[in-house]
Amino acid sequence: MEDQNQLIRSRADDVFIRTYARYPAVMEAGSGCELRDADGRTYLDFLAGIAVCALGHCHPAVTAAITEQAGRLVHVSNLYYTKPQTELAELLVANSFADRVFMANSGAEANEAAIKLARIASAEGKYEIITLSGSFHGRTLATVSATAQPKFHKGFEPLPEGFVHVETGDIEAARRAVGERTCAIMCEPLQGEVGVRPLTREYLQGLRALCDERGLLLILDEVQTGMGRTGTLFAYEQFGVVPDIMTLAKALANGLPIGAMLTTDRLAASLVPGTHASTFGGNPVACAAAVATMKVMLADGFLETVRATGDYMRQRLAAVMDKYPRIATQVRGMGLLNGLVLSAAAVEQGPAIVNQMFERGFLINFAGNCALRLAPPLIVERAQIDRVIEALDEVLATIQV
Ligand code: PLP
Repeated sequence: MEDQNQLIRSRADDVFIRTYARYPAVMEAGSGCELRDADGRTYLDFLAGIAVCALGHCHPAVTAAITEQAGRLVHVSNLYYTKPQTELAELLVANSFADRVFMANSGAEANEAAIKLARIASAEGKYEIITLSGSFHGRTLATVSATAQPKFHKGFEPLPEGFVHVETGDIEAARRAVGERTCAIMCEPLQGEVGVRPLTREYLQGLRALCDERGLLLILDEVQTGMGRTGTLFAYEQFGVVPDIMTLAKALANGLPIGAMLTTDRLAASLVPGTHASTFGGNPVACAAAVATMKVMLADGFLETVRATGDYMRQRLAAVMDKYPRIATQVRGMGLLNGLVLSAAAVEQGPAIVNQMFERGFLINFAGNCALRLAPPLIVERAQIDRVIEALDEVLATIQV
């Protein structure tokens, strides 16, 4: 039989701009936590499309909602109202701090909307936003500029101005960075891309207090942490902090492109017709998928199970860490977004560990050049966690440090 993976890969490599370093598999079908490639190999997916397919691949309720909506109405733009968009906004408002929603198509776009809102809602001359080292807010120019990691800036300068970067965890540094031009502090409750690093409760509460003290807005980027990933619908619920603006994307529609920016009535009043828009934002098919996704997540026991399964995953990872103290130094994360931090001696082998896992049919990744990241569909079963942990144990046994 012809090697379909190889065939499609070489065709793709001929025509795509090389923005991605991809694993050598052409994914063809998915169900639950499993993916199948073009040659029929199966993989246990512990990345879920980078924290996107929270209900697993092709969840029947989401597939039914997509199919039904695709047969009825696919697109009308925001010149008209649609029911799926309205239902989704109602669900988001009913289950969060927010009163109002703007719909976008991705995390970066949701963050762009948040940045624009923070600026337009603040007094004239106040436009600077403080962001944290190790953050990741997207790849558009403004969100790259917000992202306080120089490796994402290189070659794209001059970056849009108006972002000030401070050291994560240092509340005094944040305090010192507030100036006459500051309008907001923007951060992720848990920094995924730098290696699954949750903020401490004390620090995020400190940022909230600083915002209150100095009249700033707190923007929480919950693009990765939102929609049940951390064991509550939104991560902020576990920090005892309420944001002024929150962004969502990734898991919101279980795989269809979507983003959302949520805020209060008071702030939302600054955005009037003509100030912001999106042709595709709030697309009826994506919104129908999101409504179906949210209904599953809000059903009794769903988030409780995510929390319990997440505890189990961290216990199992901790046992791996204890067995390989020279390779792994820390387990960190929330809910089902977890990382095994590699030691300084082992960090160079991160990509090789991920590759060996891939060869054995297990998908994980190496985040922030420091931690193995495990973010499976939220429906993952303990037996599937056991299989990944066994494979990881076998792979780590081969690593020389
Ligand atoms: N914000 C966070 C916290 C993210 O993790 C990401 C993507 O990884 C983004 C923003 C950007 O989202 P998108 O790739 O949908 O633009």
